[in-house]
Amino acid sequence: MKFTVFGNPIAHSLSPIIHQQFAKQLRIELEYTRSLASKLGFAEAVAKFFRTGGAGANVTVPFKATAAKLVTHLTPRAARAGAVNTLIPLGRGQLAGDTTDGEGLVRDLQRLLKSADVCCEVLIIGAGGAASSVIEPLQQVGATIVMANRSSAKVTALQQDFGDLQAMSFAELSAPPPTGSNSRPRIIINATSASLTGTELPIHPNWFADSALAYDMMYGRVPTPFLRQAQQAGVEQSADGLGMLVEQAALAFALWHDGQLPNTEVVLPTIRAALEPR
Ligand code: NDP
Repeated sequence: MKFTVFGNPIAHSLSPIIHQQFAKQLRIELEYTRSLASKLGFAEAVAKFFRTGGAGANVTVPFKATAAKLVTHLTPRAARAGAVNTLIPLGRGQLAGDTTDGEGLVRDLQRLLKSADVCCEVLIIGAGGAASSVIEPLQQVGATIVMANRSSAKVTALQQDFGDLQAMSFAELSAPPPTGSNSRPRIIINATSASLTGTELPIHPNWFADSALAYDMMYGRVPTPFLRQAQQAGVEQSADGLGMLVEQAALAFALWHDGQLPNTEVVLPTIRAALEPR
């Protein structure tokens, strides 16, 4: 069975290592490659891969939104997120698109918090593709979401699609939380790409004071600038997004392999080690 991940850039992708680990664990034989695609060549590259026997594919930056427009069948959660990270061939040229990113994050938060309940207030900083795909899955497990983005228009647009999404400005984020506020976030998630460029976020340290968890969706290079800010402010627990990456991969794996869900706990240390500089 032949699988791949489409992206640009793609050389850094850990997906082949993760899927090989899952396959070894569940005694399944597969080949999983990286496919570099261009903006104009993405649709043809996907079509060719499935024409030549591809059994499934992942999609990463910058093609998730394009993939959602390309497929013949979209799952409801992928339709609402406007993004696809998993492609499943249905035969006769038909292709289904799903997104496992949001549920992947939820599963990682549940693992870190040792609870199925992700309740109470979650502050998400950022309003790009990653942020929008986690809103609904988080709301489904009891979270109330407050979203802050550098440019407020994106949050306003998301408020049209998702009920009960509260907005916060970057100016509010830079100032201490209002005194007496009983709705301090329990979890603060960095869903911006600021850490990729080594940039800190304009967040007042007091926002971390009552938080149980600071989570940076970016992985590797730990601590990220955001996690360093949170640790210096005394946050209880902090984590990067490697667990989310592995969980979303496990959910995609199950979609391709008759619902067989790999054990992610045993795979995580191997993937973390693969990230370490040699
Ligand atoms: P997008 O390009 O769609 O969105 C980027 C977001 O970051 C926007 O909200 C943008 O704000 C904001 N941003 C960028 N630079 C800054 C800055 N210097 N200060 C403040 N805000 C900034 O990216 P994605 O949503 O796809 O990815 C976001 C992050 O999530 C990345 O680090 C990515 O690696 C990670 N990710 C991790 C996954 C995992 O499995 N762990 C899965 C998917 C993504 P504005 O709108 O104002 O431009």
